[in-house]
Amino acid sequence: MEGNSRSFEAFWATPVRYLRGVGPEREKLLAKLGIRTIGDLLLHRPRRHEDRRRFAAIAELRLGEPAAVKGRVAAMGVKRLRRARRSLFELILEDGNSRLHCRWWNAPYMQQYFRVGEEIVAFGKPSRLKPPTMDQPEAEAVDEAEPEAFVHLGRLVPIYPATEGLSQRALRTLVWRALEQSPPLPEPRGLPAPEGMLSYDAAVRRLHFPENEEDVEAARRRLAYEELFALQLELQRRRWNLERKARAPRCAGDNRLIRPFVARLGFQLTEAQVKVLREIRRDMAGPAPMRRLLQGDVGSGKTVAAACAALMAMESGFDAVFMAPTEVLAEQQRRAFCGWFEPLGLEVALLTGERKILPEDRPLFCGSGPENRRRPVLYVGTHALLHYEFDPERLGLVIIDEQHKFGVYQRTRLLRKGRCPHLLVMTATPIPRTLGLTLYGDLDVSTIDASPPGRGRLRTFVRREASLPKIWRFVREQLEAGRQAYIVYPRLQENDEDAGIKAVLQEHSRLERLLAPHPLGLLHGKLSAQEKTRVMQDFHEGRLAALVATSVIEVGLDVPNATVMVVENADRFGLAQLHQLRGRIGRGPYDAYCILVSSAKNPEAKARLKAMEETADGFRIAEADLRLRGPGEFLGSRQSGPARLRFADLTKDLELARLARDRARAAVRGQAGGGLA
Ligand code: ADP
Ligand code: MG
Repeated sequence: MEGNSRSFEAFWATPVRYLRGVGPEREKLLAKLGIRTIGDLLLHRPRRHEDRRRFAAIAELRLGEPAAVKGRVAAMGVKRLRRARRSLFELILEDGNSRLHCRWWNAPYMQQYFRVGEEIVAFGKPSRLKPPTMDQPEAEAVDEAEPEAFVHLGRLVPIYPATEGLSQRALRTLVWRALEQSPPLPEPRGLPAPEGMLSYDAAVRRLHFPENEEDVEAARRRLAYEELFALQLELQRRRWNLERKARAPRCAGDNRLIRPFVARLGFQLTEAQVKVLREIRRDMAGPAPMRRLLQGDVGSGKTVAAACAALMAMESGFDAVFMAPTEVLAEQQRRAFCGWFEPLGLEVALLTGERKILPEDRPLFCGSGPENRRRPVLYVGTHALLHYEFDPERLGLVIIDEQHKFGVYQRTRLLRKGRCPHLLVMTATPIPRTLGLTLYGDLDVSTIDASPPGRGRLRTFVRREASLPKIWRFVREQLEAGRQAYIVYPRLQENDEDAGIKAVLQEHSRLERLLAPHPLGLLHGKLSAQEKTRVMQDFHEGRLAALVATSVIEVGLDVPNATVMVVENADRFGLAQLHQLRGRIGRGPYDAYCILVSSAKNPEAKARLKAMEETADGFRIAEADLRLRGPGEFLGSRQSGPARLRFADLTKDLELARLARDRARAAVRGQAGGGLA
């Protein structure tokens, strides 16, 4: 086993140029595909497999239906289309009685791959039947007499992501040879294959040359598992190291602040909130720093739960930090926390890029000796918090709100080794579960799964622009009944490139006339934090009837009296974003209405908006978004996340991700101090 694994490693790391058939030219072409070693080559994932166990007869081809055909090249040539500076390479393929025209535009180099009289295989969708024609089929010469012909014929044949100058045939032959020369591939890290999965050796071989269709998926699953396992190993190691090496402040609290806090709230904590707080208290009472993700849909009451967590730390004599994604939200949250905490005799500080309100009786730096004993402080702020020198002996808890807006939490400077505060990250962007596991696999998860009672019903409607007059009449009715509204546009200013996309500046003045005499506020990202805060405060306190805004209102604004949200050009927003926007309404006892206006015709955009109409469940929306738009939306540019998953599919590999997490956790803990930790 040992010997085998070592010889395997050497083989895997061998540069491709040592393979027969790879000279300097091919070496460069392979490098373009990211293939430098034999290992790279063996994990080069086929784009698809072509069934060459049987071929279609040209005479039986059907329009638009993909098929593989085999025949001889009867004629071929390049036509130059002078006027358009385009060229057409055409090849006529003959199978007994019928002829197929294969055409490629602007690919004159194709002619070097074929000779008249030679046998070839072509795969494509017939674009015409009279005469039978395929445009840009995938074609390659096959020579049944050559010794390796069986690699390319009579089987499911791999078709790879390729590059100009390197034919499918050549690439396939190289993979075949590499597999032939390869010693049996051992299980990675010496860990046995999960039950019911292919061995690693079988998976890599069948990835390229499956015996049947099922093999293709079985191989993918095994390799996807390895990818997810490698990611999890990182996360679980980090977590395990933290648990072993970092001391946490004991923050169990004694309820002396929480009790009066809850009594003054004016409502009872929901069962879901109580359950989550129990989980948090158990963590914070323990010797290892808490690492917990608190998820819950918008309006489910996470902030209140976070406030209780902060109070647990403060009851134990420690400071707490609450980090919000924007200055405006930080200001807003500070006001809320002041209202809650000052009556309890606690200080609430503010630290943003623009403003600092620090505890007065205390210098910026303070020691930890008894002469510095003081009442605990809650620091609310933005990223600016990261640059503040907290006293590590006093810091008990770090809360990060709307985690997805920040970079990856591990980089948080506040969380150093040694004395290490507890961490609670909160998100209302429901992360699709697979992605959550891959990004936050080292966090324990708490979920607030039910909203506070006594909320009105929130309904969502998708409407076309033609309905706008009716919509504005409805908005006016709501305003006249004393309610408030949000009206959202995708951009700040109109511009010529994107005609038809409405902008908040222009629409604001139009709507002021249309909805007069109701006063409207204007909110967008170009206002200073102070201006934003003023507008939001006016809206909060009812001096503005409606806010005309860009998506800056996406997170956090809490105005229970707001019952209508109109989003124009709604197809311009991501689903997760629309869901966040929609979370601004339906926070009070009144029925609420979210109206998504879009005249988009493309089916994907329509499907996305329809999903919004059909479900209020943030998780289902997140998963629909992931399916329809891929993980970019969730990973964002600042998230590192799973950089390149070649085999794993975040939209469907939830079970695999779980399995990988559980096994990585067990591996790391089972062999503490050993090879894996
Ligand atoms: P989230 O941060 O999850 O979006 P918030 O904590 O801002 O939600 O709560 C949304 C609204 O619901 C706030 O107005 C808050 O005061 C209120 N709220 C929170 N918990 C409860 C509860 N248990 N009962 C009634 N209202 C609640
Ligand atoms: Mg919140």
